[in-house]
Amino acid sequence: MSTLFDMTHLSASGVDFIDEPKLFALLKRKPDEGRFRDAVAKAKEKTPLNLDETAELLNADKPEQTEEVFEVARQLKRDVYGNRIVLFAPLYIGNLCMNNCVYCGFRASNKDAVRRTLSKDEITREVQNMLMKGHKRTIIVFGEHAKYPPEMIADTVRHIYSVNWNGHSMRRINVNAAPLDHAGYRTVAEAGIGTYQVFQETYHHETYSQMHPSYTRKGNYLWRLDSPARALESGQEDVGLGVLFGLADWRFETLALVAHSIHLMSHHGVGPHTLSFPRIQTASGVDIEAVNKNDVNDRDFLRLVATLRLAVPYTGLIMTAREPAHIRKEGLGFGVSQIDAGARVEIGGYTEIGDAQTQVISREQFELSDIRPLDDVILQLLEDGFVPSFCTACYRLGRTGEIFMEYAIPGFIQDMCTPNALTTLQEYIVDFASPETRAAGEKTIRRELDNIPAGERKLEILDRLERIRNTKERDLYF
Ligand code: SAM
Ligand code: SF4
Repeated sequence: MSTLFDMTHLSASGVDFIDEPKLFALLKRKPDEGRFRDAVAKAKEKTPLNLDETAELLNADKPEQTEEVFEVARQLKRDVYGNRIVLFAPLYIGNLCMNNCVYCGFRASNKDAVRRTLSKDEITREVQNMLMKGHKRTIIVFGEHAKYPPEMIADTVRHIYSVNWNGHSMRRINVNAAPLDHAGYRTVAEAGIGTYQVFQETYHHETYSQMHPSYTRKGNYLWRLDSPARALESGQEDVGLGVLFGLADWRFETLALVAHSIHLMSHHGVGPHTLSFPRIQTASGVDIEAVNKNDVNDRDFLRLVATLRLAVPYTGLIMTAREPAHIRKEGLGFGVSQIDAGARVEIGGYTEIGDAQTQVISREQFELSDIRPLDDVILQLLEDGFVPSFCTACYRLGRTGEIFMEYAIPGFIQDMCTPNALTTLQEYIVDFASPETRAAGEKTIRRELDNIPAGERKLEILDRLERIRNTKERDLYF
């Protein structure tokens, strides 16, 4: 049995590879138009960028250069991901926490936080409430505590997969929880999860120490930095990285995030499946001014998203409901591939609060900006020309990790992802949508079908859409 407190074994690549002096030197370099052009040209070829090239994009401050980065990001988004947007919703399981992260409402010293861990029955009700709305993908979230060992996480995953509502069940469960040791990752991977996310929060060592007291487990920078590598070594094929923006300089953090991706790619043959870039939000008992010392304004935030799109063209980018709807809309245009919708971050929120436009801060980890119900978000996406997708085919067909990259790189993704987006959208339309969303969804499906060349694949898609419309058959993925 693994324990949350064994920190003895790092991965084979377990060194502190974040070379701060080198990253800062790259960011202090005088911008060079020639190098900028070369980096942009390479990105247009969908070739991942190295640190020099990423730094050049981050240093290029002229408005016309920023516009160019935005434009290339838009193009890459269209070429690699098409116009589909994958939807998910977080499910908070428990907020007991032994750490004291200065920015988080769940930190141990916050006496105002209402502490709670959902029972199996409560989880069942939460999941049923999510399924009732149309959700198919979730990410389960935990504080870091001895009561949440890997066995408990794995057990929760198995339980959620078993929950059924009117023939519907969760098809992909990702996890955002504490870094584990090798045995722990194996235990959770065996339960059949999608991605295991661990955000480094900040790659800046001094800031990291200020935010995560050394007497806590999270105070160990290297244990956390090495966590995705341990996961990959333990049979966990998809890992997610992230930065909590606002703690340290955004350019440094963006470059370090790319450094982490490159490290995983070169030592483990596979980059992260997703990157997340939350900005700090107001949270219970948190002195926001004191932690958000490097507040990232909206334009710089969108710049960092676009730069990531150019630097790692095949990595999913997640923008959560921490961001207001208008920023999410812009981010979707040039790079973001996944968003949460109808999200609740209170423990028990789907059952006890539902779609109410209220938030209870003592029950949340932080405040959300976009708490529109799922159907409203889907309608907006459709009206903006996107195809909302609940696709979960890749990980269920073994297209994960290295294999996923092979599929993604030659552009295969559009052949499978668009059809899967359409069938899952069709399911949503038939089973859950409001009349307005249904009409907008049918229109989108017709438009997308017009763009698919005639042939066997198209006939197969048409057949599956018909079966979903006219029968109870579901989950017909490619
Ligand atoms: N406890 C685990 C951990 O810290 O990795 C996993 C879950 S934690 C609840 C998920 C993420 O929430 C953290 O990694 C952090 O980036 C983010 N977070 C914490 N406080 C936040 C705040 N005030 N605003 C926005 N995001 C926050
Ligand atoms: Fe605990 Fe995670 Fe919050 Fe830190 S960020 S206090 S580890 S829940």
